[in-house]
Amino acid sequence: MDSAEFRRRGKEMVDLIADYLDNIEERPVYPGVEPGYLRPLIPSEAPVDPDNYEDIIKDVERVIMPGVTHWHSPHFFAYFSAAQSFPAMLADMLSGGIGCIGFSWAASPACTELETVMMDWLGKMLKLPDCFLFSGVNSQGGGIIQSSASEATLVALLAARCKTVRKIQASNPALSDGEIFGKLVSYTSEQCHSSVERAALIGGVKMRKVPSDSSFALRGDALKKMVDEDKAAGLIPFYFCATLGTTPSCAFDHLLELGPICNEENIWMHIDAAYAGSSFICPEYRHILNGVEFADSFNFNPHKWLLVNFDCSAMWVKRKADLVGAFKCDPLYLKHKNQGSEVMTDYRHWEIPMGRRFRSLKMWFVFRMYGLSGLQAHIRKHVSLAKEFESLVRADDRFEICAEVVLGLVCFRLKGTNELSQRLHENIVKSREIHLVPCRLDGRFVLRFAICARTTEPRHIHRAWHHIAKLASQLSRGPGKMPERGPAVIET
Ligand SMILES: *Cc1c(COP(=O)(O)O)cnc(C)c1O
Repeated sequence: MDSAEFRRRGKEMVDLIADYLDNIEERPVYPGVEPGYLRPLIPSEAPVDPDNYEDIIKDVERVIMPGVTHWHSPHFFAYFSAAQSFPAMLADMLSGGIGCIGFSWAASPACTELETVMMDWLGKMLKLPDCFLFSGVNSQGGGIIQSSASEATLVALLAARCKTVRKIQASNPALSDGEIFGKLVSYTSEQCHSSVERAALIGGVKMRKVPSDSSFALRGDALKKMVDEDKAAGLIPFYFCATLGTTPSCAFDHLLELGPICNEENIWMHIDAAYAGSSFICPEYRHILNGVEFADSFNFNPHKWLLVNFDCSAMWVKRKADLVGAFKCDPLYLKHKNQGSEVMTDYRHWEIPMGRRFRSLKMWFVFRMYGLSGLQAHIRKHVSLAKEFESLVRADDRFEICAEVVLGLVCFRLKGTNELSQRLHENIVKSREIHLVPCRLDGRFVLRFAICARTTEPRHIHRAWHHIAKLASQLSRGPGKMPERGPAVIET
């Protein structure tokens, strides 16, 4: 393919994507394929001679689309939202075109410099304390785009581990890393995302799960009690991961109670706000983030709810030196003459991989094309759709709401046995008209209804509810158990 053909095919590809998204509602949101469906559809070896482009494009509909879960369908309500917008997709094309690998400033100065400014822009949108911004007065902090929240949690844990080991060895030089690792203990909520547990597994340290309160949030006294027990047993508490917006029910740990305990005990506090973080750009939700000033690191995913396509996970640290101190490794071929300059960042010292894409372009395009007001409108629309769905559920007394609806997630179930809600969920998945996933809260089987697609409108919410209520009625006509009552339908 030469540049003349690329011009033509590129325009066709833009049309293909626009057509796909314009008509996405017509497709079953969840694929009907079985594992292994794809292998028989294509040759078992790569072609020796080039294929032609038309055949490849034809195969997209034949081979790929039948196995796609349509995350951007307005009938998709599973997991949490995945961000997508046209400006972000265009910026990603440009990033592919430039195709640089921005591990150091010298490797492509614009790649590093735009990222540092975008992280400050975003930090200011969230009203993060100055100490997290590159441009903050007397700040030693700054931000980086990581690939995922999982990676940010791990990077923070590894940095905390390194810092603690060095501190202990400063007064006990005879202690080996291994001896210290064996005593280190980290903490998180029992409601944490699985990636937090994995960070401790990968980091080779113990992790204890602190019980949450009746609204699934972590309180200070529960953490303090465990830390005291562990210290009495000769262990060394060193890391705590708080969650703002837990994955099962979108609960918020109490930072203002937890933060001071961590600071007093020399425990690194990391905040995982993967989903909920985007909402803090709205003044009405910013109070949830109060207490971030106690944190050593903070992370959320613009690739979930801020219209920047995957991958874009925003992480800030209070002391850049904590990351660089843990991960720095400087062979001659990566040295350059501006190293160590005050205004210069070499992001390879802040992360696990060395190579990195020019991801800040997506942020720049999206922030400029939407403006803060456009981004806030997007968040508010999703929250209001969730509230609308909540009111539909509440109006049907066969159902109950299982957790407070604060942002774009509604947790609900059929009153009665877990088996009943489980069967309802199975039937929803089988129908392929909408898609959602369950969770477990307090031993109860709960359905999670998350507002996901950018294009979701009230009519999609009502259609989804109709569908759920209908399947629930069919369950009740099955082998008993359901209270008889039709769904209440609120017309818009
Ligand atoms: C989605 C989510 C994650 C995982 O995010 P990745 O970027 O996919 O690693 C972690 N924590 C919470 C609370 C989440 O909601």
